[in-house]
Amino acid sequence: MNNEFEEFNFDTLAVRAGQVRTGESEQSEPIFPTSSYVFGSAAEAAARFSGEQPGNIYSRFTNPTVRTFEKRLAALEGGERCIATSSGMSAILSTFMALLKTGDHVVSSRAIFGTTSVLLTNYMAKFGVKTTFVDLTNLDGWAKAINTNTKLLFLETPSNPLTEVADIQALADLAHQHGCLLVVDNCFCTPALQRPLELGADIVIHSATKYLDGQGRCIGGAVVGNEDVVGNDVYGFLRTAGPTMSPFNAWVFLKGLETLRLRMEAHCRNAQLLAEWLDAHPKIKHVYYPGLASHPQHALAAEQQKGFGGVLSFEVEGVKDAAWKVIDATRMISITANLGDTKSTITHPATTTHGRLTPEQRADAGIRDSLVRVAVGLEDIEDLKADLDRGLSRP
Ligand SMILES: *Cc1c(COP(=O)(O)O)cnc(C)c1O
Repeated sequence: MNNEFEEFNFDTLAVRAGQVRTGESEQSEPIFPTSSYVFGSAAEAAARFSGEQPGNIYSRFTNPTVRTFEKRLAALEGGERCIATSSGMSAILSTFMALLKTGDHVVSSRAIFGTTSVLLTNYMAKFGVKTTFVDLTNLDGWAKAINTNTKLLFLETPSNPLTEVADIQALADLAHQHGCLLVVDNCFCTPALQRPLELGADIVIHSATKYLDGQGRCIGGAVVGNEDVVGNDVYGFLRTAGPTMSPFNAWVFLKGLETLRLRMEAHCRNAQLLAEWLDAHPKIKHVYYPGLASHPQHALAAEQQKGFGGVLSFEVEGVKDAAWKVIDATRMISITANLGDTKSTITHPATTTHGRLTPEQRADAGIRDSLVRVAVGLEDIEDLKADLDRGLSRP
């Protein structure tokens, strides 16, 4: 936690944490587009490089705008340190590269971002890191998959696109009983709705590309955790390998954090209304949204999260053609696999985000051809309903 802000609450931290005013007395945070920094003397340069004197050296690993974003997000997640990265995937890669070595084992939820499973199975495996994939909500399955080489447990909650919710506290306890770290990709909830570190997780990952930006503009990511694991190990990898966030993107994200809670509450409100409307719609077979009382982990989500999130999925009557018809009949909602935007997005998981899986893997994961995912944005709820109804109620 940033000591200078320790006394403040979430909304104040979101607006103020990490800002250091320069001699120009600016009100808004400045962008520092500079690759290097100038030292007052050879002795000062030597002291900076040796780490004897703190301060900026080179923007691969020290930039004031990036630091402001890191301090602000660390404060919001309740972590000691945050390391910003060039993308969500490079945040995950940096965490794996910093904390794993040949022979190590990872237990991961099966229901994670597709590219994250490709990273584990196609790339980490090349370096002798094995992964066992388990069902997110089956605690027994997690326990059985852990072996003496297991170093990390990895998950996202709620899952995409079926919105299953994991018990973070129980999985953190399990990880720690076996000397492992629990890594939570908190992209879907953001710290406005869920703070995994408070529930015992060791590391929080973000794709800042999604809700932290919130308006679909920049690619970025972050790793949050304690001084030792994130401040030393992950920082050491970032400094050496260079998957660095640009100062411009950091500025966009830190301004995004200022309105994060307000936006997340509005996303949740719209998603809840849309889920209830879909649930009552005669052409809809099933709605997946943790805010519905019928959701299997509704109670857990209510306890663990401050809101139920902005993403929902639903199954239409029929198969692929029926799902595609709903998508193609929309006139306003964007057909794109991205999420976390003020603009609502709609996607067909079976042929896009989960298209690389075999039909058997898709069936195992519960991704049917009749499934449609909506990341609910901030448009008027009646316009959203009408846009979806075009493909549902008309012949
Ligand atoms: C998008 C996403 C990522 C990857 O982030 P990028 O910024 O696209 O690299 C990781 N995890 C989740 C849950 C995501 O939605």
